[in-house]
Amino acid sequence: MNEYFADLHIHIGRTEKGEPVKISGSRDLTFYNIARESSERKGIEMIGIIDCQSPAVQDEIVAYLDKGEMAELEGGGIRYHRTTVLLGSEIEVKEPGMGPAHLLVFMPTLAAMQDFTAWMSRHMKNVGLSSQRIYAPAKAVQDEAIGRGGIVIPAHIFTPYKSVYGSGTNRLANMLDPDKVAAVELGLSADTAMASCLSELDRYSFVSNSDAHSLGKIGREYNQIRLKSPTFAELKLALAREQGRAITANYGLNPRLGKYHRTYCALCEAVLDETEAAVETCPRCGGAKIVREAQIAAHRPPYRFQVPLEFIPGLGKKKLAALLDRFGTEMNILHRVPERELREAAGDEIAGYLLRARSGELTVEVGGGGRYGKVMRESAL
Ligand SMILES: [Zn+2]
Ligand SMILES: [Zn+2]
Repeated sequence: MNEYFADLHIHIGRTEKGEPVKISGSRDLTFYNIARESSERKGIEMIGIIDCQSPAVQDEIVAYLDKGEMAELEGGGIRYHRTTVLLGSEIEVKEPGMGPAHLLVFMPTLAAMQDFTAWMSRHMKNVGLSSQRIYAPAKAVQDEAIGRGGIVIPAHIFTPYKSVYGSGTNRLANMLDPDKVAAVELGLSADTAMASCLSELDRYSFVSNSDAHSLGKIGREYNQIRLKSPTFAELKLALAREQGRAITANYGLNPRLGKYHRTYCALCEAVLDETEAAVETCPRCGGAKIVREAQIAAHRPPYRFQVPLEFIPGLGKKKLAALLDRFGTEMNILHRVPERELREAAGDEIAGYLLRARSGELTVEVGGGGRYGKVMRESAL
């Protein structure tokens, strides 16, 4: 068994012909470029590309398979050099009386994804675009995905727009069949402690992914997973925590330095926002039981606050290029290069930041307006 890094939520901006897939995604975010960036620069062994329901993207995948540049794996997924690409789709569901929510679906093979596309295209205006609304019940999406060998993961479950708890409902079970959920995605504004406020989530593994809309953002959040090899079938086992496979750490940005302001009501399980958290009774159900401390399930791996390399003070493009030349990938720099070599190559100040980032002593705070704050420059350590 080995440990692998995985980021399961990456968008495609354009097809290679320049047709938009995710309008807000960057132009160079193509299927091939994502695979190459993840393998050659990031050092992430498993990536989920979640716009693979697009027929134009599927044509590109077919071409790379035909040329032998990529290959489908026995256990599911597509191999490109050191990285396995999982074929996924982000889908917007909306149940009557609830707000919209995003789901991630992953399929083992290209054929299964093409078949799923054929089904979705009958319930969707434009299956070629990212994160489109499906006009079918959320439970039907689960059944159609699982019936083709796929898995379903509710996306960024707490974000205020388009998520199960952020805009959908108070209970996951109101919207989805709880037995047909493979894991839940925390999203950039949540971590393990916050999600542990909701006891109905105790049974699920948490995944932390980048939701990247540009190549540079791949791996700003990711998972460490124990697998026999990086394939779809092995991921499925890991999410279910079966046969020794498991997520062994979540890496994410610190949503709010140190503290937890999130609160939930133990009676109706509503997640309250900070302004509501000041009150003693739940504004949704009137109950008096407001719980502020999360109970973290025993099976949870650690959640580690991760500082992306772009936030390290003094680490400019040129210096980073030199480090990548020497150490191979961003994951090597972030996790594996021994201290002595890091100090030698990066200098004591930058190495100091990197080492403190590894041990969780250095964090980056969310800035205003949804932008990320910067790590404060300090004197050399
Ligand atoms: Zn989304
Ligand atoms: Zn997304």
